[in-house]
Order: sequence, then C-alpha cells, then structure tokens
Amino acid sequence: MKNEYRGRIAPTPSGLLHMGHARTFKTAWERARERGGKIILRIEDTDFERCRKEYSAASLRDLKAIGLDWDEGPDIGGKFAPYMQSERIGYYWKRMERLIEKRLAYPCSASRAQIKKESKKLAPKIDGCEREAIFPECLRNDKWNISDIKNPKEINWRFRVPDGMAVEFTDNNFGPQSFTAGKDFGDFLVWRKIGTPSYELAVVADDAGMMITEVVRGRDLLVSTARQILLYRALGFEIPEFFHCELLRDEAGEKISKSSIGNSETNAWLICNRAKHP
Ligand code: GLU
Repeated sequence: MKNEYRGRIAPTPSGLLHMGHARTFKTAWERARERGGKIILRIEDTDFERCRKEYSAASLRDLKAIGLDWDEGPDIGGKFAPYMQSERIGYYWKRMERLIEKRLAYPCSASRAQIKKESKKLAPKIDGCEREAIFPECLRNDKWNISDIKNPKEINWRFRVPDGMAVEFTDNNFGPQSFTAGKDFGDFLVWRKIGTPSYELAVVADDAGMMITEVVRGRDLLVSTARQILLYRALGFEIPEFFHCELLRDEAGEKISKSSIGNSETNAWLICNRAKHP
C-alpha cells in the first residue's frame, strides 16, 4: 500500500449505537490496527433534525466501552479537524460549487411524493440495500442558469447520473461489484435546501479530504458506494478501497436498525466480546 492505512469510524448521532454498528465499527478499528494504520472518528451530524449532541456523547462513550480508541477525532483533534460534520458545512459547499460549475448537479424542487408518483422504475432488489424509486427523467432539470438563482445554498441540488454506465469496484470483503447508473440507482441529492450537504456528498468530501485509504461500512451501503464513486470522479478525488461488512440480523432475518432494538453500552460490549470468545 502506497500510503499509510487510514480508516474511519463514522457514527450518525440520530440514536444510540446498536450491536450492528458496534460490529462494523469494531471491524473498521481492527483493520486499521492490524495494518499499523490510523483510525479516525468522525461524527456525521449534518441531519440537524435527527441528530442530537447527547447521542454524539453517547457514541463516544459506547465506542470506548467496547475497547475502541482513535488517533484523531472530535475529542482529541487532529490534522483534519473539525471532525464533526456540522462544523464543516463551508467545506462541503466548496465541493458543491465545483459540481455546479461543471453542471454535474442541477437544481431540483421535486418532492418525494412527486418522485414516487412519476417514477416508473424501482431499482432491483439488492440484498441488504434499500430499494430506490429511480428518479424519473421527466423531473430532470437541464435548463437552469446560476445567475437566476438567488440563494443557491437554499435549494435542493441533485447529481445527474450517467444513464447506463456500469460503476465497478472490487470490495475487499465481497469481491467484484457492478451497479448500473439509471438502473440500480438514479439521480441523487447532493445538497438540501436547509443548507446542508446530503450524506453522499459529505462522506465523499470527508473521506477524500481526510485521506482515508479504506472505507469500512455496512453492506446496506453497497449501492451508495457506487453513487459515491461517481462523486469521487466528478470532484477529481482519488477513490479509496472499500470493505463492506455483513449486516447483523435479528432472529427473523431482518437487519437490525436503530428503531428495532433497545440500545445500550452493554449490548455493544456483549456482541464484541461474544465474537471474540464465542
Ligand atoms: N454514518 C453512517 C452510519 O452511522 C455510516 C456511513 C458510512 O460509513 O459511510 O451508519
């Protein structure tokens, strides 16, 4: 590997961590430590409505409780500070401006209901991933002029995907992957009218900006990785490696989510120790 390994743990503080997070974050931590690399902690709190300071504090506490540590993070600082996404909005807007200049994103006022109504295509079922209503072509907006837009930070912007293009990558856990733009996923939000980046834009801007060499995350984000690869290319960033983790499922085979389980430090602690000492 040409650079030092740099991994990241990136919780979203919209609830307490559950066992699924604990396992993914522990895998990210182990892969960095096994390679003598660095692991950074980044709090993904750009969804101001859902994220809360108490949950950020609880995430840090729970991660420490399961024995994880980090080399850079909101509590200890580091070369790429700040590590709270809510404090990096200006940085994301600069990336957004690049997409606008290159006309790779367009202003989009379509509501969710409208998209659902107009969309004729549902993305095929991909294990673990959310099934998306493909953004309909009729709602694409090609005729816009930046000088007509009064407050560009206060509108939704959508990334235009190159229809039919296969986005391929080799996952370090699941092997070769291929997703087709316009079929497996459609035009996606990069900026929200409330003045914040979407998850896809923030995560790409930060993983590139923080020099992450391998992104470790849940398998449910495989399609997101394909979207993000298009953003890396659009922004001229080097693409990191990826390692997606199998999802933890409940007894009915459903993915464990924030809403489906009572979370606690003990939960997280237990799962990691059970895995270590079965
Ligand atoms: N912030 C996401 C989460 O808490 C992880 C996103 C990612 O790893 O790219 O599940």
